[in-house]
Amino acid sequence: MVIVSAYPEIQVKGDAKVDYLNTTEYRIKPISALKIIRNCAGCGKKSVFASTGQFRVNANGNLVDVWLIYRCEKCKHTFNFSVYERMKAERLPKEQYMAFLRNEEDMALKIGNDLNLFRKNKAEIDADQLEYTYEKLDCDYENAGAGQGKIIIHNPFKMKIRTDKLLPELLGMSRSQMKKLLKEDKIRFEGTYPGDMTEIFLDFPFP
Ligand SMILES: [Zn+2]
Repeated sequence: MVIVSAYPEIQVKGDAKVDYLNTTEYRIKPISALKIIRNCAGCGKKSVFASTGQFRVNANGNLVDVWLIYRCEKCKHTFNFSVYERMKAERLPKEQYMAFLRNEEDMALKIGNDLNLFRKNKAEIDADQLEYTYEKLDCDYENAGAGQGKIIIHNPFKMKIRTDKLLPELLGMSRSQMKKLLKEDKIRFEGTYPGDMTEIFLDFPFP
């Protein structure tokens, strides 16, 4: 009997017994700022705006305004995505302020994925254009139930990526293969999206 490991890096050969609860953790990370769908004055209709990665900082006396500049992908019209409005300068950590002035890439990525700011700006996210990557985290193997595995997905930016879309990528299988395993109850998880964190249970061996 050939047992195929769900994890490409763990080779299960012949009739070897998978006798540990195999836990693998992943963290999803955005690789670009979320895109925004909004009415564009230049195009005269709804258009997609992408982050330029540039901040605009206005200091007025003791008050600071900060925006992340978005631009229409079609006509280059810009939209100021509000980060801080009339913020007391002393309340803004110097490090953060400098990051805005330097247009630091990490800061633009963080702001461009801050869902609270998207709510505040009443900005509609273009959910069809999420760009992300994932990293595998170090983790321990626990001794537990035979032939079971667990995947933990951390999603600190709460990116709205369907778990059933992400999982085939992580497991290196096709979407139809995974659908079949879901139907057979060999893969189990709750909810459509991973939220902050989600656990996925796997029963090996997969047919
Ligand atoms: Zn436009």
